[in-house]
Amino acid sequence: MPVPLFDTATPLAPLQAELRSAVERVLDSGRYILGPEVSAFEAEFAEYVGAAHAIGVANGTDALTIALQAMGVGRGDEVVVPSFSFYASAEAIVPTGASAVFCDIDPETFCVTAETVRAVLTPRTKAVIAVHLFGNVAPVAEIEALGVPVLEDAAQAAGSRGPDGRPGALGTAATFSFYPSKNLGAFGDAGAITTSDASLAERVRELRFHGSTDKQTFERLGYNSRLDELQAAILRVQLPHLERWADGRRTAAHSYEASALAELCSLPRATDGSDPAWHLYVIRSERADELETALRADGIEVRAYYRLPTHRQPAMLVDVALPGTDEAARTNLALPISPVLSEAQAGEVVAAISAVLGA
Ligand SMILES: *Cc1c(COP(=O)(O)O)cnc(C)c1O
Repeated sequence: MPVPLFDTATPLAPLQAELRSAVERVLDSGRYILGPEVSAFEAEFAEYVGAAHAIGVANGTDALTIALQAMGVGRGDEVVVPSFSFYASAEAIVPTGASAVFCDIDPETFCVTAETVRAVLTPRTKAVIAVHLFGNVAPVAEIEALGVPVLEDAAQAAGSRGPDGRPGALGTAATFSFYPSKNLGAFGDAGAITTSDASLAERVRELRFHGSTDKQTFERLGYNSRLDELQAAILRVQLPHLERWADGRRTAAHSYEASALAELCSLPRATDGSDPAWHLYVIRSERADELETALRADGIEVRAYYRLPTHRQPAMLVDVALPGTDEAARTNLALPISPVLSEAQAGEVVAAISAVLGA
């Protein structure tokens, strides 16, 4: 049986009627921008992550740019960011006028560490973007202990838990993407910023609406970047199920961990004290490319992520030595995972890997 990399349809199937009535509710209301659905979702999402404020924006990339700017990042500043992440983590720094400084990751967790961040700090460092990559939880408290504010890029980590709380409530601010395939997905682009700092939240609200609080006076240059009422209504139907879906992802990861997989390749290691809702379950093998070809031929959809890490991308090219990044980029392979991946499906994936790498 083919096994897909993601399965977004099965978990949503039982919610179809509720989703349709949420969409109808918005159509009937005639309010499409910054109305009651967005306000309600913001309150519900803030409560879920354990932050005082959530502010809906158009997508996870804008969320990063707006949060950095609200944190006071601007021209002449440096922002530390891992190269091994989705390209947007670094790209979003550029519109603030600051420059991206790439740091390394621990290839066993795929996350930045206090050590890899410390290695690139300078007097110009204004913030660190800690990416909770693949749903693992970066050590935010250890990084903030270095004396630099952390913006969490939690795009892949909705539903995860860290030692001191959930992603979204660990740093100075955090950003989320609700791109359809993320752990909590809208039916289009959507994102949010969370923070427990009231004045930071106020600046974010201003920046998402053209730099204005009263829609009459424009105190600064901002963005047109809002979460739609329709997307907010759709997210509100799904949010009460996120925890159960996250548990399904944890169960799927446990199926892989309980199998013989660890004897064949390197499994991802949860950071200390964290309980990730794995967005992607990413193994490492020196034979990753061969494995990808063989598994795809078997109908098992696997995918290599960030083979060309951001510091090697044409638009961002910098000459820095990031050995952990290069290792992860060369050897990683994401296996199928979803809230509904069954033990039998995980077994099928492991058997196929064993047929290639075993004996
Ligand atoms: C998806 C993602 C983003 C960007 O989110 P969009 O909503 O697609 O703009 C940023 N960072 C990471 C780590 C992501 O996975």
